[in-house]
Amino acid sequence: MTRVGVNGYGTIGKRVADAVAAQPDMELVGVTKASPDYGVEAAARRGYDLYAAIEDRIDDFAAADVELAGTLGDLLDAVDVIVDCAPSGVGERNASAYEAHDTPAVFQGGEDAAVAESSFNARGRFEAARDADSVRVVSCNTTALSRLLAPLDEAYGVEKARVTLVRRGGDPSETDRGPINDIVPDPATVPSHHGPDVNEILPDIPVDTAALRAPVTGMHTHSVNVTLETEPDENDVRDLLGDEDRIFLVPAAAGIDGAGALKEYAADAGRPRGDLWENCVWAESISVTGRDLYLFQNVHQEADVVPENVDAIRAMTTDVGRAESTARTNETLGIGLDSRLGGDELARTELTADD
Ligand code: NAD
Repeated sequence: MTRVGVNGYGTIGKRVADAVAAQPDMELVGVTKASPDYGVEAAARRGYDLYAAIEDRIDDFAAADVELAGTLGDLLDAVDVIVDCAPSGVGERNASAYEAHDTPAVFQGGEDAAVAESSFNARGRFEAARDADSVRVVSCNTTALSRLLAPLDEAYGVEKARVTLVRRGGDPSETDRGPINDIVPDPATVPSHHGPDVNEILPDIPVDTAALRAPVTGMHTHSVNVTLETEPDENDVRDLLGDEDRIFLVPAAAGIDGAGALKEYAADAGRPRGDLWENCVWAESISVTGRDLYLFQNVHQEADVVPENVDAIRAMTTDVGRAESTARTNETLGIGLDSRLGGDELARTELTADD
């Protein structure tokens, strides 16, 4: 049983905590909060022990009548691994505390790659995290690109990937990022940081990325062009991607036309918070011209890194292999969406609503 703590209970932290709590081979010891806002209620409703992320704010919790099990230091002493889900850049500042308590740490993609011994994606780079004292689960966009490019490279060889990322302006809860009414090249220089970050996972794939920010909160959208080393058949590419556990081929027949409908589809399927842990590849967008493959995929930024965190914990703390770990994570969370409207038999069991 691996004992896990989550430091930072925001967008990613609350989802990672739930995913860890769902694993039979893991125990969620507790989560930290930096302040006693509405997030403490979510933790309390789930029965998670709460720790103060910042020691000199303990009095704020007492003033709000919020009971604490201790401070971050106490949590670090009680766990086998800590998952840092603090805001971008704060994780790096937390690293010295983890080292002082000799507690292995999983960081998130908002940190520089140098924060950890290894960057992690279960599909592209599982074994590199084996026995590491620190790993970084790459960002939502890098996770999605790694999941897509790894099977394409294995099947056809990738000569060059070119991706335009239309990034959401902020998460739904980040009101302070708006209101906005623009589409902003961000950065205006090419490549954006995403291409080099993909190379932290798949070092041999040439990939250029250009990024924009759009006034939406639901999902990112990627426009992907990959020049392959051998000429692919369109249907074979569809089958290849459809066979990937963490890719959902969105069938044309489902009438799902964008992120809003995708999120509703996930909510109707009983997904907690309407989360989409899979890349959502628009099936009819998969097009081939010679060796050039084109497609669109949508990425739920709040969710796709969550199963990767669970697998990173297993890779660091056990000898469970990639296939076994991802299968366990997929089964416990219910990963693997299949539409009944694609014309094919359902390949996986249906999801049950869980709250
Ligand atoms: P968030 O702001 O939603 O949550 C961060 C939480 O950490 C907040 O509850 C905040 O109060 C708390 N916190 C503040 N200071 C802290 C400290 N010193 N110690 C511990 N906790 C502290 O942020 P998020 O979106 O969950 O992002 C967390 C990490 O995950 C970042 O590295 C981010 O880049 C990465 N990430 C975010 C997304 C996304 O779309 N939201 C996707 C993938 C990866």
